[in-house]
Amino acid sequence: MHKLILWDVDHTLIETGGVGGEVFKDAFEQVTGRHIDRLADVTGRTEQVIFRETLDLYDIEDPGDYFPQFVEAQATGYQTRADEMRERGRVLPGAREALAAFAELPGITQTVLTGNPQPSALAKLQAFSLDGLLDLSIGAFGTDDSLRPKLVPIAQGRAFERYGHTHTEASTFIFGDTTSDVEAGQKGGAQVIAIASGRTTAEELREAGARTVFHDLADTAAIVQAVTTSSP
Ligand SMILES: [Mg+2]
Repeated sequence: MHKLILWDVDHTLIETGGVGGEVFKDAFEQVTGRHIDRLADVTGRTEQVIFRETLDLYDIEDPGDYFPQFVEAQATGYQTRADEMRERGRVLPGAREALAAFAELPGITQTVLTGNPQPSALAKLQAFSLDGLLDLSIGAFGTDDSLRPKLVPIAQGRAFERYGHTHTEASTFIFGDTTSDVEAGQKGGAQVIAIASGRTTAEELREAGARTVFHDLADTAAIVQAVTTSSP
Protein backbone atom coordinates (compact mmCIF):
# COMPACT_ATOMS: atom_id res chain seq x y z
CA MET A 1 0.00 0.00 0.00
CA HIS A 2 1.28 3.44 -0.96
CA LYS A 3 1.45 5.83 2.00
CA LEU A 4 0.98 9.58 2.21
CA ILE A 5 2.66 11.60 4.96
CA LEU A 6 1.36 15.07 5.80
CA TRP A 7 3.74 17.20 7.86
CA ASP A 8 2.71 20.16 9.95
CA VAL A 9 5.35 22.91 9.63
CA ASP A 10 5.55 25.15 12.72
CA HIS A 11 6.89 23.46 15.87
CA THR A 12 6.91 20.09 14.11
CA LEU A 13 9.60 20.65 11.46
CA ILE A 14 10.85 24.15 12.24
CA GLU A 15 10.70 27.11 14.61
CA THR A 16 11.03 30.68 13.36
CA GLY A 17 12.47 31.96 16.66
CA GLY A 18 9.93 34.78 16.89
CA VAL A 19 10.43 35.97 13.30
CA GLY A 20 7.02 34.54 12.35
CA GLY A 21 5.13 36.75 14.80
CA GLU A 22 7.05 39.84 13.68
CA VAL A 23 6.45 39.08 10.00
CA PHE A 24 2.73 38.67 10.75
CA LYS A 25 2.55 42.04 12.53
CA ASP A 26 4.50 43.84 9.77
CA ALA A 27 2.35 42.34 7.01
CA PHE A 28 -0.82 43.13 8.98
CA GLU A 29 0.26 46.76 9.33
CA GLN A 30 1.17 47.06 5.64
CA VAL A 31 -2.28 45.85 4.61
CA THR A 32 -4.51 47.53 7.21
CA GLY A 33 -2.43 50.57 8.11
CA ARG A 34 -2.74 49.63 11.78
CA HIS A 35 0.18 48.86 14.06
CA ILE A 36 -0.52 45.91 16.35
CA ASP A 37 1.17 44.60 19.48
CA ARG A 38 -0.60 41.28 19.73
CA LEU A 39 -2.36 38.78 17.53
CA ALA A 40 -5.06 36.18 18.03
CA ASP A 41 -4.10 32.72 19.33
CA VAL A 42 -2.04 30.99 16.65
CA THR A 43 -1.60 27.45 18.02
CA GLY A 44 -2.63 24.90 15.42
CA ARG A 45 -4.92 27.31 13.62
CA THR A 46 -5.09 28.30 9.99
CA GLU A 47 -3.85 31.71 8.93
CA GLN A 48 -7.28 32.83 7.69
CA VAL A 49 -8.69 32.32 11.19
CA ILE A 50 -5.75 34.03 12.92
CA PHE A 51 -5.97 36.96 10.51
CA ARG A 52 -9.74 37.35 10.83
CA GLU A 53 -9.67 37.18 14.63
CA THR A 54 -6.83 39.68 14.78
CA LEU A 55 -8.93 42.07 12.67
CA ASP A 56 -11.75 41.56 15.20
CA LEU A 57 -9.36 42.13 18.10
CA TYR A 58 -8.64 45.62 16.75
CA ASP A 59 -12.15 46.23 15.46
CA ILE A 60 -10.92 46.59 11.88
CA GLU A 61 -13.33 46.12 9.01
CA ASP A 62 -12.15 44.07 6.04
CA PRO A 63 -13.07 45.68 2.70
CA GLY A 64 -12.90 42.16 1.24
CA ASP A 65 -9.39 41.79 -0.14
CA TYR A 66 -7.30 42.12 3.01
CA PHE A 67 -6.43 38.42 3.34
CA PRO A 68 -5.00 37.90 -0.17
CA GLN A 69 -3.00 41.12 0.27
CA PHE A 70 -1.78 39.89 3.63
CA VAL A 71 -0.71 36.53 2.17
CA GLU A 72 1.48 38.32 -0.36
CA ALA A 73 3.00 40.72 2.19
CA GLN A 74 3.67 37.89 4.66
CA ALA A 75 5.48 35.73 2.09
CA THR A 76 7.62 38.71 1.06
CA GLY A 77 8.43 39.25 4.74
CA TYR A 78 9.63 35.66 5.13
CA GLN A 79 11.70 35.86 1.95
CA THR A 80 13.30 39.14 3.02
CA ARG A 81 14.12 37.85 6.50
CA ALA A 82 15.27 34.34 5.56
CA ASP A 83 18.81 34.92 6.92
CA GLU A 84 17.49 36.26 10.19
CA MET A 85 15.06 33.35 10.50
CA ARG A 86 17.91 30.87 10.01
CA GLU A 87 19.85 32.65 12.78
CA ARG A 88 17.04 32.97 15.30
CA GLY A 89 15.03 29.90 14.33
CA ARG A 90 15.94 26.28 13.74
CA VAL A 91 15.06 22.99 12.17
CA LEU A 92 13.79 20.86 15.05
CA PRO A 93 15.99 17.96 16.19
CA GLY A 94 15.61 14.96 13.90
CA ALA A 95 13.27 16.70 11.43
CA ARG A 96 15.70 16.82 8.53
CA GLU A 97 16.83 13.24 9.20
CA ALA A 98 13.24 11.98 9.34
CA LEU A 99 12.34 13.73 6.07
CA ALA A 100 15.49 12.35 4.42
CA ALA A 101 14.74 8.82 5.65
CA PHE A 102 11.17 8.87 4.30
CA ALA A 103 12.37 10.39 1.02
CA GLU A 104 14.54 7.28 0.53
CA LEU A 105 11.71 4.82 1.09
CA PRO A 106 9.75 3.48 -1.86
CA GLY A 107 5.96 3.72 -1.67
CA ILE A 108 5.93 6.85 0.48
CA THR A 109 5.02 10.37 -0.62
CA GLN A 110 5.47 13.21 1.84
CA THR A 111 4.19 16.74 1.75
CA VAL A 112 2.85 19.35 4.17
CA LEU A 113 -0.53 19.98 5.78
CA THR A 114 -0.26 23.39 7.37
CA GLY A 115 -2.33 26.37 8.42
CA ASN A 116 0.29 28.56 6.72
CA PRO A 117 -0.59 30.20 3.43
CA GLN A 118 1.11 28.32 0.58
CA PRO A 119 3.71 31.02 -0.27
CA SER A 120 4.73 31.51 3.38
CA ALA A 121 5.07 27.77 3.98
CA LEU A 122 7.25 27.55 0.90
CA ALA A 123 9.42 30.51 2.01
CA LYS A 124 9.96 28.98 5.46
CA LEU A 125 10.84 25.52 4.13
CA GLN A 126 13.16 27.04 1.53
CA ALA A 127 14.90 29.15 4.19
CA PHE A 128 15.80 25.95 6.03
CA SER A 129 16.44 23.92 2.84
CA LEU A 130 13.73 21.38 3.62
CA ASP A 131 11.62 22.03 0.52
CA GLY A 132 13.59 19.57 -1.63
CA LEU A 133 12.67 16.67 0.64
CA LEU A 134 8.93 17.28 0.29
CA ASP A 135 6.50 17.04 -2.60
CA LEU A 136 4.98 20.48 -2.14
CA SER A 137 2.85 20.31 -5.30
CA ILE A 138 0.36 18.08 -3.46
CA GLY A 139 0.44 19.91 -0.10
CA ALA A 140 -2.58 21.43 1.64
CA PHE A 141 -2.30 24.94 3.04
CA GLY A 142 -4.12 27.58 5.05
CA THR A 143 -4.94 29.29 1.77
CA ASP A 144 -6.95 26.21 0.68
CA ASP A 145 -9.40 26.22 3.60
CA SER A 146 -9.80 27.82 7.01
CA LEU A 147 -10.72 24.48 8.62
CA ARG A 148 -7.80 22.17 9.18
CA PRO A 149 -9.68 18.84 8.88
CA LYS A 150 -10.75 19.84 5.36
CA LEU A 151 -7.10 20.04 4.35
CA VAL A 152 -6.72 16.24 4.62
CA PRO A 153 -8.99 15.35 1.65
CA ILE A 154 -7.48 18.25 -0.29
CA ALA A 155 -3.98 16.73 0.01
CA GLN A 156 -5.34 13.22 -0.68
CA GLY A 157 -7.10 14.53 -3.78
CA ARG A 158 -3.95 16.22 -5.05
CA ALA A 159 -1.95 13.02 -4.48
CA PHE A 160 -4.56 11.13 -6.52
CA GLU A 161 -4.53 13.66 -9.36
CA ARG A 162 -0.77 13.63 -9.55
CA TYR A 163 0.07 9.97 -8.89
CA GLY A 164 -3.20 8.07 -9.21
CA HIS A 165 -2.96 6.66 -5.70
CA THR A 166 -6.18 6.60 -3.70
CA HIS A 167 -5.48 7.47 -0.09
CA THR A 168 -7.73 6.66 2.83
CA GLU A 169 -7.30 6.91 6.58
CA ALA A 170 -5.39 3.63 6.46
CA SER A 171 -2.66 5.08 4.23
CA THR A 172 -2.52 8.72 5.37
CA PHE A 173 -0.38 9.97 8.28
CA ILE A 174 -0.25 13.40 9.89
CA PHE A 175 2.77 14.49 11.90
CA GLY A 176 1.84 17.45 14.08
CA ASP A 177 2.42 19.12 17.43
CA THR A 178 -1.03 20.41 18.45
CA THR A 179 -4.47 19.09 19.32
CA SER A 180 -5.63 20.73 16.06
CA ASP A 181 -3.38 18.33 14.15
CA VAL A 182 -4.96 15.45 16.08
CA GLU A 183 -8.44 16.78 15.29
CA ALA A 184 -7.51 17.18 11.60
CA GLY A 185 -6.65 13.47 11.50
CA GLN A 186 -9.75 12.37 13.38
CA LYS A 187 -12.22 14.46 11.38
CA GLY A 188 -10.34 14.60 8.10
CA GLY A 189 -9.40 10.93 7.84
CA ALA A 190 -5.75 10.36 8.70
CA GLN A 191 -3.76 8.57 11.36
CA VAL A 192 -1.91 10.95 13.65
CA ILE A 193 1.62 10.71 14.93
CA ALA A 194 1.80 13.50 17.46
CA ILE A 195 5.11 15.15 18.35
CA ALA A 196 5.23 17.05 21.63
CA SER A 197 7.84 19.49 20.32
CA GLY A 198 5.60 22.56 20.53
CA ARG A 199 3.64 24.04 23.41
CA THR A 200 1.27 21.09 23.76
CA THR A 201 2.35 18.32 26.14
CA ALA A 202 2.42 14.62 25.28
CA GLU A 203 -0.37 14.10 27.79
CA GLU A 204 -2.58 16.75 26.19
CA LEU A 205 -1.99 15.18 22.78
CA ARG A 206 -2.97 11.75 24.13
CA GLU A 207 -6.06 13.18 25.79
CA ALA A 208 -7.04 14.71 22.43
CA GLY A 209 -6.97 11.20 20.98
CA ALA A 210 -3.47 10.71 19.59
CA ARG A 211 -2.56 7.04 19.90
CA THR A 212 1.07 7.54 18.94
CA VAL A 213 3.00 10.34 20.62
CA PHE A 214 6.71 11.12 20.50
CA HIS A 215 8.52 13.80 22.48
CA ASP A 216 10.50 14.80 19.39
CA LEU A 217 11.70 13.48 16.02
CA ALA A 218 15.17 12.59 17.28
CA ASP A 219 14.85 8.78 16.95
CA THR A 220 14.69 8.47 13.17
CA ALA A 221 14.28 4.68 13.17
CA ALA A 222 11.33 4.84 15.58
CA ILE A 223 9.69 7.64 13.60
CA VAL A 224 10.03 5.71 10.34
CA GLN A 225 8.71 2.57 12.00
CA ALA A 226 5.62 4.39 13.27
CA VAL A 227 4.58 4.82 9.65
CA THR A 228 5.88 1.65 8.05
CA THR A 229 4.45 -0.75 10.65
CA SER A 230 1.22 1.11 11.36
CA SER A 231 -2.19 -0.40 10.85
CA PRO A 232 -5.36 1.65 11.40
MG1 LIG B 1 2.37 23.20 14.47
